[in-house]
Amino acid sequence: MFHYCPNCGSTKVRVARKQRFSCDDCTFVFFQNVAAATGCIISAKAGVLFEARGKEPGKGKLGFPGGFVNPGEGAVEGVRRECIEEIGWDPGERAQFMASFPNEYLYKDVVYHTCDLYFTVSAPELTLSDLSIDTKETHEVRFIMPDEIAIDDLAFDSAKKALQYFTTRLAGR
Ligand SMILES: [Zn+2]
Repeated sequence: MFHYCPNCGSTKVRVARKQRFSCDDCTFVFFQNVAAATGCIISAKAGVLFEARGKEPGKGKLGFPGGFVNPGEGAVEGVRRECIEEIGWDPGERAQFMASFPNEYLYKDVVYHTCDLYFTVSAPELTLSDLSIDTKETHEVRFIMPDEIAIDDLAFDSAKKALQYFTTRLAGR
């Protein structure tokens, strides 16, 4: 986490439970708490919407629209905002909580532990022409039938678990 205490500069620092950072030379304590993040499984007639990631981590791999929840934001608000930012489409009230899975997100040599909240949206009528893609974050968007996806094409463990959960319990309902 840190090699030096940000308060006194001491090197006598320790990390407990991957989240509690403390200094033996002063009273400094810092918690790197689990961050909340969202993912959205949007299913249309043409399949489930996947993004090809345009940036690291997992560049070129597939993922779902979503991202970190902002300070002061609720999870539904967060997943709607991410969909609007990334694909230019608001799932609105149709976003239904499905399941959550832990994830580790490596960004610039720092591991972030997240609790990823997955939502499903049923949008049979949705097509690519309804979307407007943020090409900085996302290289491409595709609708793919869930059973045509190789699970290792997905960037994140939590997304793999979410897709498996979705296909075994919810798809085709
Ligand atoms: Zn200190």
